[in-house]
Amino acid sequence: MPQLAQRIGRAKPSAIMVIAEKAKKLKAEGRDIVNFSIGVPNFLPGAHVYDAARKALDTDSGQYGSNRGADAVLDAFLGHIQALGLTGYTRANICTGVGAKHILYNLAEALLDEGDEITFPTPYWTSYVDIAEIVGAKINLLPCPPEQNYKLTPAQLDEALARKPRVFLFNNPSNPTGMVYTKEEIAALADVIANYPDTWVITDDIYNTMVFGDVGYHNFVHIRPELKDRVIFVDSLSKTYGMPGWRVGFIAAPEAVARAVTTMNSNHITNLPEVVSAAAVAALSGPQDIPRQKAREFAVKRDRVHAALVAIDGVYCPRPQGAFYAFPDISVAFGKSHGSTRIDNDVEFCAALLEAKGVACVPGSAFGEPRALRISYSCPDDRLDQGMTRIAEFFAELH
Ligand code: PMP
Repeated sequence: MPQLAQRIGRAKPSAIMVIAEKAKKLKAEGRDIVNFSIGVPNFLPGAHVYDAARKALDTDSGQYGSNRGADAVLDAFLGHIQALGLTGYTRANICTGVGAKHILYNLAEALLDEGDEITFPTPYWTSYVDIAEIVGAKINLLPCPPEQNYKLTPAQLDEALARKPRVFLFNNPSNPTGMVYTKEEIAALADVIANYPDTWVITDDIYNTMVFGDVGYHNFVHIRPELKDRVIFVDSLSKTYGMPGWRVGFIAAPEAVARAVTTMNSNHITNLPEVVSAAAVAALSGPQDIPRQKAREFAVKRDRVHAALVAIDGVYCPRPQGAFYAFPDISVAFGKSHGSTRIDNDVEFCAALLEAKGVACVPGSAFGEPRALRISYSCPDDRLDQGMTRIAEFFAELH
């Protein structure tokens, strides 16, 4: 057989999908499974989005479209980011992609030569590592343990940027931790970034409207507008608009970067389909009540999950302030057994929990933090409560 490219040897199937598949299999066997594993928002967009898509079908040109994105989509996104306080951008700063994942992949190809350094905090969203490895970048991980609320400190960033990495990749609100940086924290990190002009900054903020309480959403560019010439803001309709399968992602970036990503598009996807583009315009510029209502509901779910977790002896969980994830430190269970099953790490914990209680969570090691696990809590409240009760039972039964 002819050889595969070396780069594919560096790509790993997603650890999250492995758990999700196992959960699906147990469910097919008739087990009652509470699935906290997949990061899906569990709601659909409003009727106006579907109406726009249907209308677009009736007027579909059937032709290729713009590599950057249709003007109407670019303008709708410009309006959206203006509402987030990101001003002064034009169409030349924007580019679309098939979800934020595709955008991040494009950015890795566009910014990183083989052997170039990319740096980002741990815990991280799994694909950051996989994408960086596929393009052959060197990865410098910045450990942000539960004791520092999973947040990067200015001193850590300073040390990392002094190595002159090509890219610093940041994620706020965070998947998997649900942490949100305060205005003061973002300002302190922005001050450090300002001292290192040779590094691109990618800020993956796809959960930006899912922020609870009064912490607010803050971006380096809000604090220091001059960083616009190096900061690349990544957004997506997947989570905040309940549209993960529609595959729409965006950047607001320096013109050269937006052009580079457009060139990448021209060599693989060519364009977003017209129907998808029409739905994206309707989502971004139509009524915002569903996304707002969902963010409020997730705040209440966060309270339920967090209360249940901190009530378990020895479990520590920084209080999430955004997205729909909780990331408790469950290392108190290591070295103990459930029934006859010994648990020495996060992977064994999640496997035993799924087997014994039918609750699917993702081991923290998938995100670079093997003391924790991720709970994706977007499911209906009754399932959420059942899942949390079973987790508490599981802990109580450890010996
Ligand atoms: N970034 C983060 C932090 C994510 O959690 C996800 C999805 N889980 C993505 C990017 C990719 O989102 P999408 O491709 O669906 O837009």
